[in-house]
Amino acid sequence: MKRKPMIAGNWKMHMTTKEARELVAGILEQTSDVNFDRVDVLMAPPFTALSAVAELLSGRPVFLAGQNMHWEEKGAFTGEISPVMLKEVGCSHVIIGHSERRQYFGEMNETVNKKLRAAFSHGLTPILCVGESLEQREANQTFSVIEEELDKGLNGLTTEQVQSMILAYEPIWAIGTGKTASPEQAEEVHAFIRGWLEKRVGKEAADAIRVLYGGSVKPENIEGLMAKESIDGGLVGGASLKAESFAQIVKRGL
Ligand code: PEP
Repeated sequence: MKRKPMIAGNWKMHMTTKEARELVAGILEQTSDVNFDRVDVLMAPPFTALSAVAELLSGRPVFLAGQNMHWEEKGAFTGEISPVMLKEVGCSHVIIGHSERRQYFGEMNETVNKKLRAAFSHGLTPILCVGESLEQREANQTFSVIEEELDKGLNGLTTEQVQSMILAYEPIWAIGTGKTASPEQAEEVHAFIRGWLEKRVGKEAADAIRVLYGGSVKPENIEGLMAKESIDGGLVGGASLKAESFAQIVKRGL
């Protein structure tokens, strides 16, 4: 069974509010012929642009996400953003455990788990990122790394919660490097993730969970990736920063 595809743009630390407005306008224009019943589209701008983007997306079938959040509702956590704040500004989703958070900002599976729980208690749908480094892949640790990220990240979550979340397989060696995993390499890991999910929540529930691929997704490679049974969409970094390339990915990903 193929699930409804999702194309999600992770803008990272790009786009001033002005630039964000221009990008959203361009994407909306260039996707005006897209049937949004057939694909979910999501944008994850930096925190400072969320309000402006939310305004432009109002009434449009496009989802808005935070790129990260703290697990507490409020408190003395300088520089952090809470789930309540993301909800208030119009986010329906939040990216959790992106490899850049893990690599540069000390994100751990334990904090990922707290954030996932907080997302659910505030009605945000989390997009959990998992993936191995090049070193880990070369040492044949890909599956064990991902298994640990899933075991610890999803620890204690209910079947309903797991079933309602979105996963993203993002091999670290393919992020921002221009090196995409081949559709076969990606599918192998996606199938492993789906197998893990089946064991965790049963086949029927696992069948409903979308697993996106992320890592140098471009208009030229999205079709090959989407042709694979277990790949349900893309989490797109660099190519989500240009209206034309993002719109092309949405269209070719259908
Ligand atoms: C990402 O940021 O999640 C990502 C996959 O980036 P890029 O598409 O630039 O590799």
